Amino acid sequence: MKSSSDIAIKVWDLVVIGGGPSGMMCAGRAGEVLGGGQDDAGGKKKVNINNKKDVQLAKILLLEKNEKLGQKLSITGGGRCNITNAEFDNRAFLSNFPEAKEFLFSPFSKFSAKDTFTFFESKGLSLVVEARKRAFPETQKASDVMHVMERYVKDNGVAIKTGVQVVSVTQDGDNPFLIKTKDGEKFYSRHIAFATGGLARVQERGVSAGGFSILQKLGHTIKASNPNIVPLTTSAKWVHAISGVTLSFMAIRFKQNGVTKLKKTGKILFTHFGISGPLILNSSFEVKKLLANGSVEASIDLFPDTEENELDRRVWRLFEQNKNKKLKNSLPEMMESSLAEQVLNLPDIKLAEKEANAVTKEERKKLVKKMKNLTFPITGTLGLEHAVIASGGVPPEEVDFRTMVSRVNPNLYLLGDVLDINRPSGGFSLQLCWTTGFVAGTDIANKIRN
Ligand SMILES: Cc1cc2nc3c(=O)[nH]c(=O)nc-3n(C[C@H](O)[C@H](O)[C@H](O)COP(=O)(O)OP(=O)(O)OC[C@H]3O[C@@H](n4cnc5c(N)ncnc54)[C@H](O)[C@@H]3O)c2cc1C
Repeated sequence: MKSSSDIAIKVWDLVVIGGGPSGMMCAGRAGEVLGGGQDDAGGKKKVNINNKKDVQLAKILLLEKNEKLGQKLSITGGGRCNITNAEFDNRAFLSNFPEAKEFLFSPFSKFSAKDTFTFFESKGLSLVVEARKRAFPETQKASDVMHVMERYVKDNGVAIKTGVQVVSVTQDGDNPFLIKTKDGEKFYSRHIAFATGGLARVQERGVSAGGFSILQKLGHTIKASNPNIVPLTTSAKWVHAISGVTLSFMAIRFKQNGVTKLKKTGKILFTHFGISGPLILNSSFEVKKLLANGSVEASIDLFPDTEENELDRRVWRLFEQNKNKKLKNSLPEMMESSLAEQVLNLPDIKLAEKEANAVTKEERKKLVKKMKNLTFPITGTLGLEHAVIASGGVPPEEVDFRTMVSRVNPNLYLLGDVLDINRPSGGFSLQLCWTTGFVAGTDIANKIRN
């Protein structure tokens, strides 16, 4: 009978922790370079664990805390998945990563947005490009992206274990890493890729960012997390009252002490807590910085292409044509009716019940000014639980971006949202996952082979 010390210890060549987009790309790519399959011994190198010789080598294992891979991936882009941004000039693409672009030139020279197109299209998933170069699967289904990635991982011989939460990773000298799970399972691995994600939406759908404390214990610095792409809140009740209304063309100014600090033009969505939509989400990082210095006021111009005098003439004509109508019944000809009602009921306007023929010139001009300068206070953000992207994580200085290997441990790799890299929405986050996952997977596989 074999004693427990005789039982072979299985040592994986690579364990990827986290089955999101970056982890799946890394595991699949490493398997692809190694030629797939799990049966033959993965590496050529002999591995000893505390001088135990009876060691069985295996290739790649992907560990995921949730029961399914890629839960967050399947809710991206409102369920459509903005898979990348079709800006094929790397320099232009990386201008969207203001603080980290110098780090990213090297990995993007190996796997760029163009490569993402080739990758998915070669696997039968055609991509289409929408406004602002945002690319989506032609099927408009994030679940299809998920399935391509899952198949990529499986077809390349990666072993998958879901429902497994890693709680610690330690390394004794030159021995392989020892990975322990919440349920007391142990795994040994010569290389580890951390793809455990960031702190945005940690509560939602069981998405968890359990990697940071483990990385800290392995010697990495972890920058505090802050919501970066996140809806903004206001205390103005009239904004809450028009929840669901979208203005497809307006200009918004964010002001501090009466001075405009940021101006954006485009679409805005009013919600029961404040304002949202891509334009607002992409302004939130700067607005949050302003909020740290004091109060912030938003001012919306409902007719950004029309000068105030011209707008006044349009309103005057509307009143002339609807002399005996109450303004609450005529103004909706010029703007969304629930918004018109709220504007007319503002304490300094109070014109909803007045007929047009009773409105004075001063009252009309005041209304026009309001339509050009609809102000409300910004009180904050919806916080990490509602953030699309959170800052924080491992600072880029602690990673060698040529390979995505940690500068703290030569067998540890860091991917995707684990990294503290700020960027806007528009497909840039997932591209960062595809790129870092691909580069790390390639490097790890080459190390294993040699
Ligand atoms: C609502 C929403 C919509 C978005 N839409 C887009 C979009 O359209 N386009 C875009 O580019 N970006 C989008 N993003 C951002 C994008 O989803 C993320 O940047 C991306 O998912 C990060 O991938 P990742 O692999 O780094 O981490 P994640 O996707 O967060 O995956 C990490 C995985 O690791 C697992 N894990 C964590 N800790 C452990 C542990 N201790 N043990 C085992 N497993 C663990 C998690 O369960 C998770 O599955 C969106 C984000 C949100 C929240």
